[in-house]
Amino acid sequence: METKYIFVTGGVVSSLGKGIIASSLACLLKARGFRVTIQKFDPYINIDPGTLNPYEHGECYVTVDGHEADLDLGHYERFTDIATTRANNVTTGRIYQSVIDKERRGDYLGKTVQIIPHITDEIKRSVMALGKTGRFDFVITEIGGVVGDIESLPFLEAVRQLRWELEDNALCVHLTYVPYIAAAKELKTKPTQHSVKQLQQLGIQPDVLVLRTEHDIPAEMRAKIARFCNVSPGAVVQSKDAPSIYRIPVLMHEQGLDDIVLRKMHAPLDNEPDMAPWHDFLANMETASEPVTIGLVGKYVELQDAYKSINEALFQAATYAGRRLDLRYIHSEKLTAENVSEQLAGLDGVIVAPGFGHRGIEGKFTALEWCRTHDVPTFGICLGMQCMVIEFARNVLGLTDANSTEMDPSTPHKVIDLMEEQKSIHNMGGTMRLGAYDCRLRPGSRVAEAYGRTDISERHRHRFEFNGSYRDRFEQAGMMCVGENPDTRLVEVVEIPGKRWFIGTQYHPEYQSTVLHPSPLFRSFVDAAIAYRAERTAATGK
Ligand code: GLN
Repeated sequence: METKYIFVTGGVVSSLGKGIIASSLACLLKARGFRVTIQKFDPYINIDPGTLNPYEHGECYVTVDGHEADLDLGHYERFTDIATTRANNVTTGRIYQSVIDKERRGDYLGKTVQIIPHITDEIKRSVMALGKTGRFDFVITEIGGVVGDIESLPFLEAVRQLRWELEDNALCVHLTYVPYIAAAKELKTKPTQHSVKQLQQLGIQPDVLVLRTEHDIPAEMRAKIARFCNVSPGAVVQSKDAPSIYRIPVLMHEQGLDDIVLRKMHAPLDNEPDMAPWHDFLANMETASEPVTIGLVGKYVELQDAYKSINEALFQAATYAGRRLDLRYIHSEKLTAENVSEQLAGLDGVIVAPGFGHRGIEGKFTALEWCRTHDVPTFGICLGMQCMVIEFARNVLGLTDANSTEMDPSTPHKVIDLMEEQKSIHNMGGTMRLGAYDCRLRPGSRVAEAYGRTDISERHRHRFEFNGSYRDRFEQAGMMCVGENPDTRLVEVVEIPGKRWFIGTQYHPEYQSTVLHPSPLFRSFVDAAIAYRAERTAATGK
């Protein structure tokens, strides 16, 4: 089958969940046996979101090949189980950078370089790049932003041109919003009509409309939208608010989204999607009533998207354990020795979050000391692992001023330090240790038991490392370096074996956790938290 291209655009307002709709469609097409990939085109000028503050754009996701990507790529992977790469996330900045590089090389042979055709051609080339590999039947391209934004115009112009060039192999799904006016008790279609008109003015006629709504949209209202928007009546699909994003693929299938898309693209329709494992997950999710209470100690507690992949990995692990995730955010800046017992009371497990910079760091040490001495299941991720190491150095090894050189460059005990090759790098963008690296786990360790094997590969995003010259002192005092990079011997995992569960990973296991293949380490952590809860309940009789 020739590669087919599906474009997903959005109108009316942002945050409608284009990424979830694109992911759900991909999930359904994959479940029908098609080879699918999803890519995101972001209209901002940053080269990638790696240098963006999480307050701006939520979590920065990391692909296997070390690209710092938009968090929607995390949804793509969680829903499809297909790894994304650098090619799956392109920004205006990347497009311009590549056009300007070509211009400097003289590739344009003296021509005036313009938005049309040079920028749009570069966008088109990037849209088609994954398709050209021959590895995919469907390439779904999500265009970030809202139709009408100045910034997304070149992308939409590229989509317009591609629709003509690709003919039947291109399709446009437009996501809009149907608001409910509570005072009038009415759903309103006008914003959708306007948004489609805006697309039409740009020369794009959507083939399928997906309508975000809080209430069911009656059939006659959908027919009216179809009539006003030049869309066939069967191609207006509602996407009603669901209690969980993981329900959306099933709801979209019930609405016939995959069916319409395949029909319109003249693609084979014979096999129904095999969603049995997905349904099992949903059944677990919906019957789980007993909670497992996890505290996430971090500095972005007001902004839950900052820890998106951790939240989802925890949710998946809890669901597989038949539990309802009760996740509490604990502000690391507000944690003190005085309030820590009160703040962490009642938690079955604690995660200390990744991060950059010293804001809130002392609170992380306080939380870790409390968790270690009270033997609470504890999971440190990246900066969280580094904090585990520092806290242990200070309070167990007696190296009172131990620190990471990120926080205190003049510390006498650099237990966490910059890698040699990082010392000469001054550029902030894309210069960390990024992407998947192999890790060898010590046989018999808790972490090896969790994975069920000793050779693993997980994704990284950091500059600083455990300082190997302290390794023996840590091991002698009981904090074991149970995972290391087989080539460089960099320490990737520490654990304290005598504890209920006390593990820190320099890597981010959350990035590889998907609905159908949840992270083994998150599962092990959540299981330990559940066991700890049971122990406490048995002891107190409550
Ligand atoms: N700031 C730390 C480093 O760069 C940890 C990074 C992280 O938690 N992702 O090494």
